[in-house]
Amino acid sequence: MKKKLLGLTLDELKAICLEEGLPAFTAKQICQWLYRKRAVSFSAMTNLSLKARELLESKYEIGAVPFSRFARSKDGTKKYLFDIGEKGEGFPGNFIEAVMIPDEDRKTLCVSSQAGCRMGCRFCMTGRQGFHGNLEAARILSQFFCIEEAEELTNAVFMGMGEPLDNLDNVLRAIEVLTADWGCGWSPKRITLSSIGINRLVGSNAQGKKSPLERFLDECKAHLAISLHNPFHPERLQIMPSEAAFPIEETLKIIRRYDFTGQRRVSFEYIMFKGLNDTPRHARALASMLKGLECRVNLIRFHDIGDTEFLPSPMMTITAFQEILQKAGITATLRASRGQDIEAACGMLSGKESGFVKE
Ligand code: SF4
Repeated sequence: MKKKLLGLTLDELKAICLEEGLPAFTAKQICQWLYRKRAVSFSAMTNLSLKARELLESKYEIGAVPFSRFARSKDGTKKYLFDIGEKGEGFPGNFIEAVMIPDEDRKTLCVSSQAGCRMGCRFCMTGRQGFHGNLEAARILSQFFCIEEAEELTNAVFMGMGEPLDNLDNVLRAIEVLTADWGCGWSPKRITLSSIGINRLVGSNAQGKKSPLERFLDECKAHLAISLHNPFHPERLQIMPSEAAFPIEETLKIIRRYDFTGQRRVSFEYIMFKGLNDTPRHARALASMLKGLECRVNLIRFHDIGDTEFLPSPMMTITAFQEILQKAGITATLRASRGQDIEAACGMLSGKESGFVKE
């Protein structure tokens, strides 16, 4: 199999050029073609010598995956389907989705980091389908580079399919490409990673090592959003089985050790389920849990995904909940739902082929 170049750093490309007997400056040119001009073939790299292009073509591939279908919402949101089913790579016929959300002068991409997810949140379509594999950096970056709005994207949220801290190396690599001077040159302030909060490393050689959450906070400057959804351990456990291994209290202990008073922000996502987590008791406990932390709470009305016992909270209940938080000094906003008609809203991504326009 040919080595993929998409997702490699400038230093890694320099090492390849050295190995192949190409001048070191070729690496910088390749970076520009890959990350600024989004070239999908070596023949497009016209300022590289013919010899360099032929050599690269014979031994390497770019690794960009085009989208196979898309669906457009009446509110302008667009959901893209990527076929990542390549034999031999552990993805037997699987699809992932990315959602482009336009909002005034912004175009935000909601990007997937895994095919499926192992966290199993009970209110989420992705969680229901189980885990199929981690996306390598080239697959994550393809969602940015291969959609029709690639040149217009202003922001990114790692809130699509998968738990990004469960595929941290590839996610950090993609963020490095997006933010490096030799890459796309984005400010990390344009990127938010959303997680259930993987607050410890699991496995036999985990002793003494940093948790994925700490590594993310130490190794990049992107914003953090934590899926909280319930302040009480036994109740959060009922809707998020990952609470057993990664209790929210431990996640908050880590977050409190970092500075969120400057450029970097932390926010908490709170999906509101009727009668389950939307009472004044929950609002007061949430306010006390977040007391003293510079943060924001995003309240999200549950989107019915069918075949569940969950119901969306009434708007009046959500407003009352928001008021309790605000009176306690916590900034709480109600997040507008986007792309619900094409199943592109929060928790609705399933990787199903139906409902898309074929390209
Ligand atoms: Fe995974 Fe996020 Fe869905 Fe939970 S909500 S199952 S972490 S994709």
